[in-house]
Amino acid sequence: MKKVIVIGGGASGIIASLKLATKKYDVYLLERNSFIGKKLLVTGNGRCNYWNSNIDSKYYYTDNNNILEKLLSRRDEVFKFLSGLGIYPRIKNGLYYPYSNEALSVQKIFESQLLNSKVNLITNFKVEKIIKVANKFKCISENKDITGDILVIATGGLAYPKTGSDGILYPWLRKQNIKVNALNPALVPLFTGGDFLKKWAGIRSEAKIKLYIDSRYVKEEEGEIQLTKDGISGICVFNISSLVAKALSNKKDVQVRIDFLPNIDDLNSYLLKRIKLLKNGTILNLLYSLINIKLIDIISKKANIDINTNINKIDSKKLDCLIDLIKNFTIKITSIGDYNMAQVTTGGVSLEEINPNTLEVSKVSNLYLCGEILDVDGICGGYNLAFAFISGYIVGDSIND
Ligand SMILES: Cc1cc2nc3c(=O)[nH]c(=O)nc-3n(C[C@H](O)[C@H](O)[C@H](O)COP(=O)(O)OP(=O)(O)OC[C@H]3O[C@@H](n4cnc5c(N)ncnc54)[C@H](O)[C@@H]3O)c2cc1C
Repeated sequence: MKKVIVIGGGASGIIASLKLATKKYDVYLLERNSFIGKKLLVTGNGRCNYWNSNIDSKYYYTDNNNILEKLLSRRDEVFKFLSGLGIYPRIKNGLYYPYSNEALSVQKIFESQLLNSKVNLITNFKVEKIIKVANKFKCISENKDITGDILVIATGGLAYPKTGSDGILYPWLRKQNIKVNALNPALVPLFTGGDFLKKWAGIRSEAKIKLYIDSRYVKEEEGEIQLTKDGISGICVFNISSLVAKALSNKKDVQVRIDFLPNIDDLNSYLLKRIKLLKNGTILNLLYSLINIKLIDIISKKANIDINTNINKIDSKKLDCLIDLIKNFTIKITSIGDYNMAQVTTGGVSLEEINPNTLEVSKVSNLYLCGEILDVDGICGGYNLAFAFISGYIVGDSIND
């Protein structure tokens, strides 16, 4: 019987192994940790947002959208497979969690399914080197080795290395002449500089953020942002971070414009109406209950306006300046969170290196890749685990004699 080795017991490697276990192969799953699915446990704040009702390539960043679309077209089949393993969903706004709301329960399902399958799980096996010997793959750890006919690499990217993914096999892939696109942390906070940061740290606000790269508008996201001592964070910030990471690594100028009142389009008319209604009072009175009090202070200081100025004494130029700062608060992004903070890696093995039907590497027969090691990263919402599961499933399904 042919031997298949799967390196990496994360989301993609587990599904590839379970799918392979139904076939006539001797399957070995090698995991460097003492148990499988360590990263799964921290996903979705411990709740594991494992799927989304709208899995579409527009929610991903990749170097080949056509290939990605082809891979994602298998989504329904994969979802059925996951359900067949016993993962029962709780769906909130299109986001899928296990009904238990516990990531641990998903990890336990995988653990018991692997135990009941014929997969040979070998934990505490960190593959440090791969050698090709007569068309076979020899995987070597510090004190053991194992040789297989078919190799699946499912070792993830560089994000959150404390769960096991440290990118140790990228150099080997490059040596095989496989193109690995530039790697950067993504789904991370964005950092800026400025005196106001100390004051705004801790504020949460509904906002629309617009990303500008080299002064050109690129993308916008809306939702709650967290203002931190270093910059900005929150889901909508994470969702643009992949683009920011790439732009900064290419030495481009990156700006984010924050609209703190995205629901009020014509803020000028709105404030003029409020001034009429208030009759008297200060700028503070005018802005109270619209935006956070600390923000009022920061914005009026930037506009060079005393917050105690009587509203009847603000000239239109000053009002315009205030409005511009509320609707277009511009920060220059100087850096981003590192891999220890990142939920995913952007970049990775180019999709052009793989067969889109099987995920076999075109240049190296019997070598397959799945999961985050590939150049595919999704926004928040279950897209990354979904891709790990879909790609793992395709690999497991397509390995056939
Ligand atoms: C904090 C956090 C929260 C997240 N939340 C979500 C979420 O809610 N929804 C979502 O869709 N995505 C989420 N993600 C992203 C998602 O977890 C990953 O994209 C996904 O787990 C990638 O799966 P993978 O199988 O490619 O890699 P991984 O899950 O990283 O698994 C790789 C496995 O390979 C093992 N390994 C690595 N190198 C070796 C080696 N040399 N030898 C042996 N074993 C090795 C590792 O120990 C690891 O177990 C989150 C990520 C983080 C860090």
